[in-house]
This record gives sequence, structure tokens and C-alpha cells, in this order.
Amino acid sequence: MPRETVYIGFGSNVGNRVDYCDRAVTLLSLLPHSQVSGISLLYETEPVNDGANPGDGWFLNGVVQLETDVTPQSLLSVLREIERSLGRDADNRSGPRTIDLDILFYGNRVINEPGLTVPHPRLHQRRFVLVPLSELDPLLIHPVMGHTVNQLLAGLNDPSEVRLLFPQPSTRYGSRPACSPPPSS
Ligand code: ADP
Ligand code: MG
Repeated sequence: MPRETVYIGFGSNVGNRVDYCDRAVTLLSLLPHSQVSGISLLYETEPVNDGANPGDGWFLNGVVQLETDVTPQSLLSVLREIERSLGRDADNRSGPRTIDLDILFYGNRVINEPGLTVPHPRLHQRRFVLVPLSELDPLLIHPVMGHTVNQLLAGLNDPSEVRLLFPQPSTRYGSRPACSPPPSS
């Protein structure tokens, strides 16, 4: 199985959102046969009611870029497992979520299987996905729409607000404190 570049969207709108996002990215970075190759900044985004009913809490959203040999279906199982381990309420999936993980793109593959649609069917309508994606690869081409991420963003009809989180937390992946403090020689 050749290595593919995959984009995974993450979002949290309940509890300690920074911590949930941080843990999700950390768990993704531990995935075998995979390497995190990019992480967007974090954005504060207005909840969008396009089918789900996530409540009033604003989201933190971002996107992770991953080079991986893990198959799309296996990756989806892993994402579900991470969601479970971070306490997402499986009985009220459409409600407020500690963490939501979506496969946005899997290389340039187009997948239409029960329970898995790639590219993610709503990504081109969502500012909170396109803004962090454009940070990682503005010229990435949507294999179904035939437009780049930046073109999709320019043509977007989504009035919901997406603000860069300021200040960006210092607890993010890659900058976690070590288990024991360094020797203070
Ligand atoms: P949403 O993320 O749209 O708010 P959920 O996280 O509850 O909704 O996902 C609903 C279902 O979407 C999941 O059971 C999953 O099987 C399915 N699904 C289809 N395509 C994808 C994808 N590309 N990434 C993640 N989940 C997907
Ligand atoms: Mg989801």
C-alpha cells in the first residue's frame, strides 16, 4: 500500500477544547505506518447547523496532514477509537462533541462506501474546514469539484465566523512538557 497524504479535520466544542484537540493530534502522531507532516493553527468557529445540532458552544477547529499507509477504512476506525477514548458521546453523536475527527481528503481518492465518503461530503461548504486546509495546502485540488482549496474558499457561501485563536496555546503537540523536568545543571 503506497503512502498517501491524508488530511484530517478535528473539532471540539465542549469542555477543555484545547486539551481535546491537543490529545487528538498527539494520538494521531503515534499512529503506526504514519507520520504527521503538518498541523494548522487553531481557529475559533461559530457552530454551523448543517444537519447536526452541536449546541451553542463555539468550536476549536484545525486540520492535520498525515503521510500514511493505513487504509481509509482502518483510518476511519482509528478516528472513531480516538473519539471514543476522548469521551465523545456515542449516543448523541450530533450533539456537542468533545472531539470530532473527519477524513477530509485521502490522496486524490474518491470513496463512496457505506459509512465512508471521501472527500468529506461537506468540506467544500465549510469555512471552518477550508480556512485551516488552505494554510496547509492552498493549491490542493478537490478530486470531485476540480477546484483548489483556495478557489473553493473564494467561492464559499458560508456566513459563519472563523477566527484565528489568539493567543495560540503553548500546550500543543510538539511542545508538550516532558514527563520529568530536564536536569537543572
Ligand atoms: P459530522 O462529522 O458530519 O458532524 P459524525 O461525526 O457524527 O458527523 O459522523 C457521522 C458518520 O459519518 C460517521 O458514522 C462516519 O461513518 C460517517 N463518515 C462518512 N464519511 C466520513 C469521513 N470522510 N470522515 C469521517 N466520518 C465519515
Ligand atoms: Mg465526524
